[in-house]
Amino acid sequence: MRDFKNIKRVVIKIGTSTLALENGKLNIKRIKNIIKEISLLIDRGYQVIFVSSGAVGAGLGKLELDFKPKDIDSKRILAAVGQVELMHIYESLFFAHDKIIAQLLLTKDDFFGERLKNLSTLCNNLLEKGIIPIINENDAVVINEIKVGDNDTLSAMSCKIVGADLLIILSDIDGLYNKNPLENSDAKLISLVERVDDSIESLIYSSNSNLGTGGMKTKIEAAKIANEMGANMVIANGNNPSSISRIIKGEEIGTLFRVKAD
Ligand code: ADP
Repeated sequence: MRDFKNIKRVVIKIGTSTLALENGKLNIKRIKNIIKEISLLIDRGYQVIFVSSGAVGAGLGKLELDFKPKDIDSKRILAAVGQVELMHIYESLFFAHDKIIAQLLLTKDDFFGERLKNLSTLCNNLLEKGIIPIINENDAVVINEIKVGDNDTLSAMSCKIVGADLLIILSDIDGLYNKNPLENSDAKLISLVERVDDSIESLIYSSNSNLGTGGMKTKIEAAKIANEMGANMVIANGNNPSSISRIIKGEEIGTLFRVKAD
């Protein structure tokens, strides 16, 4: 078991590969289970910030498109329409568990100076009231200069907003492997990373996953940021959302990137 006894504030990031089906549209059945899990955590006294991808998938469904357009203007339309659709789904599913949500669409600028201060105050106030802040990058209007770029990094930066104790990243894989498990039957899941160094970064392999944006590279970067801020990070498979509660209890699921003890 992992020593997670003192965990109270948790950032949970769910990637596109978990939220969307292979055709890019949302996997509503899975989303329902994830929301049930998050609601249970809150009922048990945890404070949860939810970083969610999936707006583009929701936009595809809403606009009845069968393919993801590549040009930036069309992607912005999808993000703008999809964000509303996604929140509409979250709001009604969380409502069924008596939970209220708040939407925060952020860019890199929001994590510094006065804006970070405002953001922290807001999130602390929301959490105190048991309201769930749902964070995404403001993809409809963001420009490259102020873009965080991927939700793994965004979720790690979000630990800074409220001094989170734990970041859970749910993806389409069980955690960090020493080699590609789809190609190597002897591939091993690494259950603990105590220091992110070159040897860890060298484990990233290229894959043909077409749904996610960052792959393992941005997750390892996120681990560095989260650990520096004093938050442990666990990467686990999102195909079974009940793992969220089990991770928080300290079960050895997925890969833990552990904060260095001083
Ligand atoms: P998400 O949408 O959840 O962010 P991604 O597709 O971006 O998911 O990232 C997960 C993918 O990272 C895995 O499906 C896998 O193909 C890839 N990956 C690359 N290197 C590794 C590694 N060493 N261990 C596990 N997964 C890896």
